[in-house]
Amino acid sequence: MSHNLDLSDQLAELYTLQEIDEEIADLTERRRRVIQELRTIQQEVEARRADLDRLRDEVKRAQVEQHRLQVELDGLQERIKRYQEQQSNAKDGNEYLALQKQIETSTRQADQLEERLIEAMLRLDALREQLERKEEESKAFLEDRQQVFRERRAVGRELERALEEARTRREAQLVRVNGDLLRRYDHWRSRRKTTFLAVAEKHVAVEQVGRNQQRTTIFTCSGCHMTLPIQLVVEAQKFSRLYECPSCHRVLWVRDPLERIEPEADEAES
Ligand SMILES: [Zn+2]
Repeated sequence: MSHNLDLSDQLAELYTLQEIDEEIADLTERRRRVIQELRTIQQEVEARRADLDRLRDEVKRAQVEQHRLQVELDGLQERIKRYQEQQSNAKDGNEYLALQKQIETSTRQADQLEERLIEAMLRLDALREQLERKEEESKAFLEDRQQVFRERRAVGRELERALEEARTRREAQLVRVNGDLLRRYDHWRSRRKTTFLAVAEKHVAVEQVGRNQQRTTIFTCSGCHMTLPIQLVVEAQKFSRLYECPSCHRVLWVRDPLERIEPEADEAES
């Protein structure tokens, strides 16, 4: 009998280990997601900063272009002034006409340049406005992202602490588990990545059949939720050896045994 009790206790200890391992798996997954979130936030922040830098570069280039056009226009106007001076001192009609032609050509060029300069100024204005808007927007965005980053990082650290604590509990639990059982458990988990031990979960249904109340007890596998043959539960709760769920092949632990054999209902009989 002590041997029978022993296997029940062993399964109980293994079940505790399995719960810790499920907890560790859950914490590890949550920590992985938090790390992923932190990376995503960093990428968003970097992308936004790169966006701003690109826009600032564009503003700079537009400034340079505007300056270049202004210098070119000033030069041209200088030249026109010189031509006009030369024209007023022209020796003859031919020189006068030649200079007139130069003045006309240069004036046309100056008109075109002026138009381009106006376009460049408008473009620069629009870009500056865009940059200002984006900087304003980004300020709120970056502050928000930094806030979320700090929050998620705190969650990550909390998960790290919980993981460390669970690993310590696992170490302590490990020595309480039977060696053979542990080997089977490790083998199963490394191969299938699921739970090895399932609880035979007891469900009692009370049904009115005519004037009688009929109690039906069924057991389901906590691993795959299939209903277990009652005879299997009766055998498994003797704890003489290990029994498996016929459906998912997890080892069964009858934590809450069936009392004797099922009473044949009719409590309400009068
Ligand atoms: Zn099952």
